[in-house]
Amino acid sequence: MVKGYISELFSSFQGEGPYVGRRQIFIRFAGCPLSCFYCDTAYARNPEPEYCSFVNRAGAVKEIENPLSPCSVLELVNELHTHDTHSICYTGGEPLFSAAFVNEIAEEAKRMDYMNFIETSGYSATAFESVVRNFDFASLDIKLRSHRAVRDADYPRLYDNELRCIRASVESGLETIVKVVVTGSTSAREIEVVCRDLSEMDYAIKFVLQPVTGTVTVTPAVEGGMSIKPEPPDIETLFSLSELAGSFLDEVMVIPQVHRYMGIL
Ligand code: SF4
Repeated sequence: MVKGYISELFSSFQGEGPYVGRRQIFIRFAGCPLSCFYCDTAYARNPEPEYCSFVNRAGAVKEIENPLSPCSVLELVNELHTHDTHSICYTGGEPLFSAAFVNEIAEEAKRMDYMNFIETSGYSATAFESVVRNFDFASLDIKLRSHRAVRDADYPRLYDNELRCIRASVESGLETIVKVVVTGSTSAREIEVVCRDLSEMDYAIKFVLQPVTGTVTVTPAVEGGMSIKPEPPDIETLFSLSELAGSFLDEVMVIPQVHRYMGIL
């Protein structure tokens, strides 16, 4: 049995994308190999935190020693289950960074009749392919070069992995959501390239443009970086990027993060 590191485990409402407002049990896996400049969960990039913060149904936080076994994670998940629970959300950090651990939890959760929903940057198609059979939903990011998730020279490989993850997700029958974070400096050209590539795949996907949340000061994902407030796009830019995306893809939506506004995790 594989043990793994979890940063946080809690129940809340989904704050992003077309499932916004659905109740989920969030497992925030520790560690992420990327370094997006707008990252608002930089604390979860630590691959081996000493403790997992477990928030129980009364809202009390308990620090549980890492690493955890899949069995103990699922006991905590069961403790958080409520009648309105839609699914378990495997998020991060980056869940694919702990693919074997994720897979064991998801396999057992499926046997227990939970639906499984993964949120990933899709940085590794091999890791994604190793877990995909246990998932029902995937929310896959496409990082733009301007997000600075990786060094410039490594960007083509990241992008190729992301497209391969989308392919594996759709071909395995998952409901597939593709999300791009839009900042004040995102260019129409960047969005056009992504949408053209997705339209050539000719898959049924939901495509989400997510304006970056500019109200939050983010701590740097890269050591030595400076804290910044990412600049969100203006509404005219969102209209024009949405129209551009809609000229390539069928289901295009612009959805900001709502959990920040609700003041919840
Ligand atoms: S993929 Fe980017 S935004 Fe997500 S945890 Fe990693 S650095 Fe942060």
